[in-house]
Amino acid sequence: MDLAVAHIRIDGERCVSCRECVEVCPQTRDSQYPVYAWGEDGLPRVANPESCIRCLSCEAFCRARAIVVDSEDGQGWRMPGDPRAETKCRAIF
Ligand code: SF4
Ligand code: SF4
Repeated sequence: MDLAVAHIRIDGERCVSCRECVEVCPQTRDSQYPVYAWGEDGLPRVANPESCIRCLSCEAFCRARAIVVDSEDGQGWRMPGDPRAETKCRAIF
């Protein structure tokens, strides 16, 4: 089992402060240690990345395409045929 902590990047230049990522993240809504917190600057910030279960909901639902959820080394963990990979491609293109 891969226990690597997710590496979540938020592009503050693209973010439109809609809060969708905070709303859709199951590990923010229901977790004692939420992945996301809302910053005083009006942008989401990653508070507890170790809580992330890599569902990719935040990445998929971000209308500004401002979020990338990846492994810390940037190599990702998606396997060929993983339907989440297609979601990621749609998010990028
Ligand atoms: S969903 Fe995207 S645009 Fe909306 S607050 Fe989160 S990072 Fe910003
Ligand atoms: S990938 Fe899923 S669990 Fe991780 S931060 Fe995004 S919505 Fe939350």
